[in-house]
Amino acid sequence: MGGIMKRFEHARLIDGTGNRPQDDATVIVDGSGRIAYAGPAGGAPATPDASTVDLSSMTILPGFIDAHVHFLFGPKPSGPPADSALTSFHVARRMRDTLAAGITSARDLGGLSAGYCLAQESGLIEAPRLLSAGRIIGHTGGHCDATGPDGHNATGHFTILADDEQSARVAVRTVLREGADVIKICATGGMGSPHDDPDDEDLSEAEIRAVVDEARRHRGKKVAAHAQGTAGILNALRGGVASIEHGYGVTDEACDLALASGTFLVPTLATAFNPLDPSKVSPLHFEKKSRWAERTRENIALAISRGVAIAMGTDAGVSPHAANLLELAYLVQLGMTELQAITAGTLNGARLLGIDDVVGTVEVGKIADLVITDADPLTDIAALARPEHVRMVLQSGIARRNTLPARASVNA
Ligand SMILES: [Zn+2]
Repeated sequence: MGGIMKRFEHARLIDGTGNRPQDDATVIVDGSGRIAYAGPAGGAPATPDASTVDLSSMTILPGFIDAHVHFLFGPKPSGPPADSALTSFHVARRMRDTLAAGITSARDLGGLSAGYCLAQESGLIEAPRLLSAGRIIGHTGGHCDATGPDGHNATGHFTILADDEQSARVAVRTVLREGADVIKICATGGMGSPHDDPDDEDLSEAEIRAVVDEARRHRGKKVAAHAQGTAGILNALRGGVASIEHGYGVTDEACDLALASGTFLVPTLATAFNPLDPSKVSPLHFEKKSRWAERTRENIALAISRGVAIAMGTDAGVSPHAANLLELAYLVQLGMTELQAITAGTLNGARLLGIDDVVGTVEVGKIADLVITDADPLTDIAALARPEHVRMVLQSGIARRNTLPARASVNA
């Protein structure tokens, strides 16, 4: 990870901690890709050997963290059926595009095998830092079971079924053996699944508690629960999960439980607000999605106003890839300040993923995952989702995207 020292000057710094922006800040990245200084220009040490970049009228932010993606899912390419090699190349491109959009870390909650994570770690592919759940755990006939009445398994190989506490424990052990970094369960039905409704319960509270305990016994792995209807959200919260994914049916009672336990909510508004084309999905899917649209707005706005800890997640793969930062604008639409939305997409994501000791904020000693924008995210947060405004993305101090004007670099 060797490189030359980089010095960014005259930037506005939004450091991800929730603190107000600092004008005319200097950020210094050392040769190992760590942040050596971040603060007022006047306090910055001299760095005669650094490559210096003038960021007048630009803003430095931490690299963003998407806590809920599915890199395996995406638009189906036309033409002959894809073989697994082609699938890998499609996934690698989605990952590279997502990184270039400013997402320097991501948590894949279903579908992604551990090999992709190893490929990222070893530098074979340019991708966000990855945590992956591998296969999703749910019960027979539930959200992750698309088996047809004739027994045909349309689900693919990204789920594992469990129907009692013991089989739920075995399922956790199985996905851990396959390399899972985090456990993903279904606590409710969903929009796209053929046999259930978002208000249906999936794993029971006792089964969820068994999953959480089994994950805890293995280096304290965390559990993320797909939970849309209220009953399943309450089961998941009482069962001790680390995050409620979607959470569209969240209530005051659920907010009380989440606040008491510090459980995160990942509202995936990018998917909730992503309109479906009725000609491309089943009538049941379309009907469920339409029925939940207004409920979702009201309930997530309630959770935001109650101060529940929220981490940014998009469900990209169900929503479009590489448009992840639109989620920040949706969070603002439902009541967050721009600064709160940025914290949801940086520090809070890092805390939920358990990587806040190394990334998530622009602070001395952390890895230099940075986003540089020419937009003003505090007045136009949606601009962060437009590629032309993401001028530079650094990961471990290495430029993964750079469209800064050549004049910006004084001494490169
Ligand atoms: Zn998902």
